[in-house]
Amino acid sequence: MAHHEIPLSRPDITELEESLVLKALRSGRLSIGPMVEEFERSVAARAGRRFGVACNSGTSGLHLLMMALNIGPGDEVITTPFSFIASSNCVLFTGATPVFVDICPKTLNMDPEQVEARIGPRTRAILAVETFANPASMDRYEAIANRHEIPLIEDCCEALGTEYKGRPAGSFGRAGVFAFYPNKQITTGEGGMIVTDDERLAELCRSMRNQGRPLGQPGVASAGGTPTGSWLRHERLGYNFRLSELNAALGVAQMRRLTDIVHRRNEVANRYVRRLMDNRSFILPTILPETLMSWFVFVVRLATTYRAEERDRIVAGLRRHDIGAADYFPCIHLQPFYRERLGTGPGMFPIAESVSQRTIALPFFNSMTEEDVATVCQTLDLLVSHENLSRA
Ligand SMILES: *Cc1c(COP(=O)(O)O)cnc(C)c1O
Repeated sequence: MAHHEIPLSRPDITELEESLVLKALRSGRLSIGPMVEEFERSVAARAGRRFGVACNSGTSGLHLLMMALNIGPGDEVITTPFSFIASSNCVLFTGATPVFVDICPKTLNMDPEQVEARIGPRTRAILAVETFANPASMDRYEAIANRHEIPLIEDCCEALGTEYKGRPAGSFGRAGVFAFYPNKQITTGEGGMIVTDDERLAELCRSMRNQGRPLGQPGVASAGGTPTGSWLRHERLGYNFRLSELNAALGVAQMRRLTDIVHRRNEVANRYVRRLMDNRSFILPTILPETLMSWFVFVVRLATTYRAEERDRIVAGLRRHDIGAADYFPCIHLQPFYRERLGTGPGMFPIAESVSQRTIALPFFNSMTEEDVATVCQTLDLLVSHENLSRA
């Protein structure tokens, strides 16, 4: 039984983060400055990309990218129903329609054959998610997108640091988007970043991020924030999706520690695997060969014999024991708003629906100890055997 609370996630903030945030704070430059530039360079480099465009969330990065790719009403974008809501909301923001395809029960990413089968005359992009940081099939989506001459967009919001066949997450599509909410591998509090090799696309995103200010301009107000030069020239409809220097400073510090962070998360994941692999009630994440995982969350799945109510009782039981747990993810096509808007409903994507009824996200953060993992797994075992007994 837990003697102290074990949260679902917990950011890892050290003196390095504190000192860089303080440095930004004392610099007098709180937006559009050197921290954002350094953060963009380091994330782009980790993704093997030439350009990074920092935004104030992963969602705004995805939104910006969809607009910059000129996706709009009448267009279709193929994507997964088993994800965080933002990955298909960004399609709706532009007036385009998300076209869902079912997932592969092993990798939990879209089934590549179904992706290809759903491509039609209105398909303008494939938006692929590295679900729970698993990069499986990214090369296949890339090949399909190339064959049909449409862009692959990578929602790599959960996958910073992951690699597949020697290529980093963020390097597969025309562009990718990372996110830095506090439960991700690294955090800026709130934040996101578009990465791409396409200079024109990066410049367009930069301009739209910054109120539609002219392309190719640093877009820098003078240090005190007083407008200079073309500051008040707006060439296109733009937004304010900028990331502040304070948030970027946090990101610069976290990026310097990324190798260590990925290593620690790997150790926590390995502890879970060792503890849970012999229990037939659980299906553990399937990580294909040629994958280097940078773990985002640790999600186990109850065996196919379990029902959603049993899973829900187990999640509630963990929480009662002060252990964070969540049902990542309810299917997007079953969200009330989607049912109403797209006419989707139960039975349309049976694998995604079946999987999502049995998943349990367990506590997962850098500083999790062996004892924490043991406590979580013992409590989980207890709750599952209780369900088994009440069936008999
Ligand atoms: C976290 C996440 C996002 C973006 O999240 P923000 O909270 O807006 O930064 C988008 N897609 C997926 C799949 C995510 O996990």
